[in-house]
Amino acid sequence: MKYIGAHVSISGGVENAPQNAKGIGANAFAMFTRNQRRWVSKPLTDKNITQFKENCKNDGFDPKHILPHDGYLINLGHPEKEALEKSRAAFLDEMQRCENLGLQYLNFHPGSHLNKIDPDHCLERIAESINLALDQTAGITVVIENTAGQGTNMGHRFEHLTRIIGNVQDKSRIGVCIDTCHTYSAGYDIKTEKSFENTLQEFDTLVGISYLKAVHLNDSKKPFGSRVDRHESIGKGSLGLETFKFIMNDSRFDNIPMVLETPDQSIWQDEIKLLYSMIE
Ligand SMILES: [Zn+2]
Ligand SMILES: [Zn+2]
Repeated sequence: MKYIGAHVSISGGVENAPQNAKGIGANAFAMFTRNQRRWVSKPLTDKNITQFKENCKNDGFDPKHILPHDGYLINLGHPEKEALEKSRAAFLDEMQRCENLGLQYLNFHPGSHLNKIDPDHCLERIAESINLALDQTAGITVVIENTAGQGTNMGHRFEHLTRIIGNVQDKSRIGVCIDTCHTYSAGYDIKTEKSFENTLQEFDTLVGISYLKAVHLNDSKKPFGSRVDRHESIGKGSLGLETFKFIMNDSRFDNIPMVLETPDQSIWQDEIKLLYSMIE
């Protein structure tokens, strides 16, 4: 079975996310657990937590189909000590929030070298940051997202994911989220049935399909291989509809959260319907 949703708002409190997802016909969703543009956020209250769990239950959302995303300021591969420590502390806070909410995953972007350390060193640092976070928490699997490779962002090559996972001690608590826009922008063709299959094969060889825990369903505003991260609504970008048909009819994508991060939230409901209609 396919579990489709979108990255929904937590405006008014995290407990509103399940209803926002249900309102668009989703059976999975992504969310932030705090303000994604700030270093420090108020702790979740007992009321937030209880209400969130209750709403998930009432609206029929299982934690394994909920994909919290970390904040934008965090860089787990930061070249400078102080900023690295700040990032690690914020990431730990995010992990603990997920634990408190009874969730299973935390989705994040690997990090950036900022041209101040070499990329290999940055990858090692990211793995070290993950190990520290896993050591201090229980039950949360970190889900690393492949990136478009914009600027000095790491994670646009599957080899980067291989390197990071290779240095993570508890491999039972790390997974991967494939973002279709990022994959295509990074220069992995997924537009035709053959190229889609080849890319998945390459992912399986280098990373392992068993690590695939989530998908971000986005078309791309920019052309193939641009290494620019600009999401577009499904079928309206350079990627087009076909890729999403392959995904919707491929059992490797069964039972994992697959969420839209497309720019026009007024059509999320239609996009979800469209995706389900592609199942043959
Ligand atoms: Zn994404
Ligand atoms: Zn993106």
